[in-house]
Amino acid sequence: MKTIGLIGGMSWESTVTYYQTINQRVNARLGGYHSGKVLLYSVDFAEVELAQRREDWQRVGELLADAAARLERGGADLVLLGTNTMHKCAHQIQAAIGVPLVHIADATAAALLSRGARRVALLGTRYTMEQDFIKDRLATHGITVDVPTPPERDMLHRVIFEELCFGKLEETSRQAYLAVIHRMAAAGAQAAVLGCTEIGMLVRQADTSVPLVDTTVVHAEYAVGLALEA
Ligand code: GLU
Repeated sequence: MKTIGLIGGMSWESTVTYYQTINQRVNARLGGYHSGKVLLYSVDFAEVELAQRREDWQRVGELLADAAARLERGGADLVLLGTNTMHKCAHQIQAAIGVPLVHIADATAAALLSRGARRVALLGTRYTMEQDFIKDRLATHGITVDVPTPPERDMLHRVIFEELCFGKLEETSRQAYLAVIHRMAAAGAQAAVLGCTEIGMLVRQADTSVPLVDTTVVHAEYAVGLALEA
């Protein structure tokens, strides 16, 4: 089994899901007492969040590249970055290491295509919805991305940073998220991408008939597949 290096803490609430999913999937594949080989480097999210608001991507890219290099030195065979937003710096991080950075959008695309979804709604932070680093990567897999309207994006972003990153799950926010998903599905999206690693704590597949792809879960599962391949 390969060792999975995980850069977590963005926010730590979703890092819990990564750790749990990796261990559950390894155990489902291997049985017995098997669990994942995982190295975790969990950042101080305050530094990342501040750099995001200042649009100081260079600085936060350096911080995450350093975290990735530490994981590689510690023995990680592959590295996961446990946030969609910071994949903005994926090139900078990959350039700092000799092992693969497993891109969250590649895992997402594989999950979407296996469900037959080629046109999708993308929900996430403002950075993820308005910039191209996730959309373009999905497009390379033949997936067309629709994004919410500006007022919807404001609501989605606010809930992530004011509630989900603190582990607060509000019913009004769940309903607001579902309303966006249902409107976009009615407009032609075949699935909704929960393109922020905390959204899956709030919105579950049982809440809607629209197919959901939770980037946290599919990223962790994809990494397990790589860690266990011969
Ligand atoms: N976890 C979030 C994401 O997947 C947002 C936190 C961050 O800005 O890194 O984009």
